[in-house]
Amino acid sequence: EKPFKVTVIGSGNWGTTIAKVVAENCKGYPEVFAPLVQMWVFEEDINGEKLTEIINTRHQNVKYLPGITLPDNLVANPDLIDSVKDVDIIVFNIPHQFLPRICSQLKGHVNPHVRAISCLKGFEVGAKGVQLLSSYITEELGIQCGALSGANIATEVAQEHWSETTVAYHIPKDFRGEGKDVDHKVLKALFHRPYFHVSVIEDVAGISICGALKNVVALGCGFVEGLGWGNNASAAIQRVGLGEIIRFGQMFFPESREETYYQESAGVADLITTCAGGRNVKVARLMATSGKDAWECEKELLNGQSAQGLITCKEVHEWLETCGSVEDFPLFEAVYQIVYNNYPMKNLPDMIEELDLHE
Ligand code: NAD
Ligand code: 13P
Repeated sequence: EKPFKVTVIGSGNWGTTIAKVVAENCKGYPEVFAPLVQMWVFEEDINGEKLTEIINTRHQNVKYLPGITLPDNLVANPDLIDSVKDVDIIVFNIPHQFLPRICSQLKGHVNPHVRAISCLKGFEVGAKGVQLLSSYITEELGIQCGALSGANIATEVAQEHWSETTVAYHIPKDFRGEGKDVDHKVLKALFHRPYFHVSVIEDVAGISICGALKNVVALGCGFVEGLGWGNNASAAIQRVGLGEIIRFGQMFFPESREETYYQESAGVADLITTCAGGRNVKVARLMATSGKDAWECEKELLNGQSAQGLITCKEVHEWLETCGSVEDFPLFEAVYQIVYNNYPMKNLPDMIEELDLHE
């Protein structure tokens, strides 16, 4: 049977890490996967050299994942359309603000038998309301799409320090390709490594909601850390945040399963790791200690990487306003008001409680 050909779209901090994982497995299981894996790279000039050339010759993404050697069967390609030619599985892994443009470029270039996994953390909020990014991909490109989300700070996974993750995928009935369709076993083979333990489930909505919203909660943790308030305050933010994450799921994605929030790596475990050491916390902490705005802090700290909570809190605010539910989510609203309207961070406890009184 023809092996699955795989492409990763995205080459940031997590994009490159997942491409490394996938390339290692494609090399390791040649009977299941074509060994050569392409990674689409948003081309950049790095001191007069192209990033794709650096990756393909020195096998390192010097800008977004420095110090990590990439497998030599991972090939960087700056041409998006060419990177998905004759492919069977696409792994999406870019900051979510770039997804609409990527999908519009890909339209008409992806066969209907192709299956996809989204490693993005965020939502698409637009005329159709709040949408999972996997559903957005399905709608735009007409392909089945699942998700991968977990307690996965990219550099730790890249350094092969043990972690867990959750892959969620629903197998469709309408396979129109040659050979066999992608199933849970194939997905486990694609992502599982000795240092990266994969659980495959069906609850795409549950893992995607957790992945998107914990970034907003992490901003709240960064604010209280930056104010010097310590672990108790951070734990309080995480407690309230978990409650709001679950409420959001129950209100807008009733198909999500409550056990996903507590039992999967994508649930409370990702909340904990992100609130302890993620980029969103770092950016929010610097906002608190420097008084600079979010975008300045992101630029200063992240060298082109993105703190997704900054965009997600605005999208969530807009959606909650549309449906008149802002008051049900006081922490999400407080984070939005601090980032976009300069509300004082020290009022965070009151903002959460004050709004609670309206319930
Ligand atoms: P990143 O934050 O490192 O962002 C940088 C990437 O964005 C680079 O590849 C850059 O080329 C690209 N980029 C910049 N401008 C672009 C444009 N106009 N069009 C397309 N691409 C452009 O990205 P990341 O860390 O790989 O994150 C991807 C997704 O994975 C996000 O949704 C993130 O929340 C999620 N995630 C990240 C981590 C992590 O630890 N980094 C872990 C788990 C999940
Ligand atoms: P940050 O984007 O805040 O670094 O979070 C990374 C992440 O998603 C860990 O699972």
